[in-house]
Amino acid sequence: MVGKEAYPTSSQKEFGEKCAVFGLYNRSDHLEVGRITADGLHALQHRGQEGSGIATSDGSTISIHKRKGLVKQVYDDEDPASFNFDLLPGNMAIGHNRYATSSKKSSDCHLQPVIDTEKKLTLVHNGNLPDTEKVEKFLETYGINTSDLNDSEMMHAAILHFKNIGASLDEAVVKAIPLFKGAFSLLAMDNKQIVVARDERGLRPFSIGALNGGYVFSSETCALDAIGARYIRDINPGEMITANENGLRSFEHSRGEQRLDIFEFIYFARPDSVLLGKSVLVARKNLGGMTARETSHSDADIVINVPDSGTPGAIGYAQESGIPYEEGLIKNRYTGRTFQRPGQDRRVSEVLQKLNPVREVLHNKRVIVVDDSIVRGTTSRELVRMLRNAGARKIHMRITSPPVKFPDYYGIDTPDQRALIGAHKSVSEICEYIGADSLEFLSYDGMISAIGLPESMLSTSCFTGDYPIDIGKRREEIVYQKS
Ligand code: AMP
Repeated sequence: MVGKEAYPTSSQKEFGEKCAVFGLYNRSDHLEVGRITADGLHALQHRGQEGSGIATSDGSTISIHKRKGLVKQVYDDEDPASFNFDLLPGNMAIGHNRYATSSKKSSDCHLQPVIDTEKKLTLVHNGNLPDTEKVEKFLETYGINTSDLNDSEMMHAAILHFKNIGASLDEAVVKAIPLFKGAFSLLAMDNKQIVVARDERGLRPFSIGALNGGYVFSSETCALDAIGARYIRDINPGEMITANENGLRSFEHSRGEQRLDIFEFIYFARPDSVLLGKSVLVARKNLGGMTARETSHSDADIVINVPDSGTPGAIGYAQESGIPYEEGLIKNRYTGRTFQRPGQDRRVSEVLQKLNPVREVLHNKRVIVVDDSIVRGTTSRELVRMLRNAGARKIHMRITSPPVKFPDYYGIDTPDQRALIGAHKSVSEICEYIGADSLEFLSYDGMISAIGLPESMLSTSCFTGDYPIDIGKRREEIVYQKS
């Protein structure tokens, strides 16, 4: 899958969504890098379910396989005629899971790794560049048409440009990075090395591990565990690392200051991952506990979770309040995340497909329902209706984060502020909209103290509108200002 698919045509510019990246460098080819990368990507499936891809290099050729579908489908080697891991030979690999997009045409054209027709350079990127003006202008100066390129493809084109005029891959990345304004955890690979870079605020997670003499790079630590690698450390904000026959080398491409996106703790990361030294699961339980401390719960018989991301918060809430924890909603484990599906009707029916209430648990009960966030309000509204139909007598929604008021431009696909219910409705109006008997959110300060990291290490832009990396012209899209 190279050539046209690498730089596809599309009528609408896309933005790189929150995705998974993974890479593996080994000096010899005694590790099956393609298979291990597929296993790593499988552990990162929650970060992207639209499609997956892996590129490997054996020192002289880059091989690539990418397709729409879940990881297990994309790398299904039961029918060797359609795919087998021998098609991904070599001692280095980079891989990517792509997040489903909300509004764009469904096509596999923007799947990663990005690669050029001559297979000189391949790249995977997690994050989003809200402001591509600089890189666009640069590419256009060199006659590269950017109208059909998304941000990741522009990054690839810029690095390739420097390579084509004689730079080594690491030099090319260093030269191209000043053109990239936004969030990136990226891996670039040619036939000699892998170069890894993280934006100067470290908005998306990124860590390094060791495996049998090789090095592993992963969006989250859960994938290191899944392949039996040993966690070494996080990649620092502003850091670039080269992995080649000389081993690992670290450089500072920009002066870094850690501002991890707080939504990784709230919703996105897998609970068994560790971010900035904190267990995501423990952080979510603490968010639930803090919500119980801050909100009323005298009028309740049970606490139920909204699986899966709301579960640790509900456990924390139940433990702190002393109200029994029950499973009142059962999740169909074979549905993907519903949030990103196009169209409101489709999203609503997918909540029904995904969650089913248990009448025997809920009947005649005063229920506290704990979820991690309200974005558009779709899920909560559906849930309340569903729980009432199942016989719940009272429904009290408790949310383990404050209302989302500002769009995200760094990689979560919530770019239109008008769609964010917390941006234009008060808590009581949201409560009315979702039809609950009461609704309470965790406070901003409560959220920060529950996570247990200084506020200065986190990006909280979706709650505050303070964007740690300039969002350029996209600021004009913010219609509701801070109150
Ligand atoms: P909404 O239905 O739009 O209010 O979205 C809130 C629900 O989606 C909650 O149950 C969250 O667990 C989940 N959620 C929050 N943020 C995201 C995201 N970026 N991607 C997918 N799901 C999300």
